[in-house]
Amino acid sequence: MPRDETNTTLSEATNRFRAFLHSHRLRLTRERIELLQTALGAKGHFDAEGLFANLRRRTPGVSRATTYRTLTLLEQCGILRRALVGRGRSFYERAIDRGHHDHLVCAACGRIDEFYDPTLEAIQKRIAVRRGFAIDRYIHELHGTCRACRNGRSSKSDADDRKNGRGK
Ligand SMILES: [Zn+2]
Ligand SMILES: [Zn+2]
Repeated sequence: MPRDETNTTLSEATNRFRAFLHSHRLRLTRERIELLQTALGAKGHFDAEGLFANLRRRTPGVSRATTYRTLTLLEQCGILRRALVGRGRSFYERAIDRGHHDHLVCAACGRIDEFYDPTLEAIQKRIAVRRGFAIDRYIHELHGTCRACRNGRSSKSDADDRKNGRGK
């Protein structure tokens, strides 16, 4: 992503977050700004613990409780999206300025790939309409084994990078 675009996203997200916090009588503290920057700077999908570890390097005093609470606030105001990925693990990803997409999750290496299929979107909407169901949000995940793992080509370090939100 070009640098200008990152800055635009960051200032837009900061303004949105400030307004959201204000409406909940909360303040945009320095720790919350640091967390927002770290979250938006993460590539792809990351979990709360991985973000907490990164954040701690920048802001040593930050607590785990603050990290988790702020992530929830960022999700509520639409800056981050939470995707539930099997066995109680959940990942966050940037939601602001990104379109909706779904995930393919590799059980062997932890790789998370994204896809978007308009036919699938239309089917899901049709199912809801037929049942008079109003969709707030939905999470669609395919779990299995990625091509690299099926071919025995995935390396452990790649997988660790992805789990820590460093790889793509
Ligand atoms: Zn894999
Ligand atoms: Zn995603």
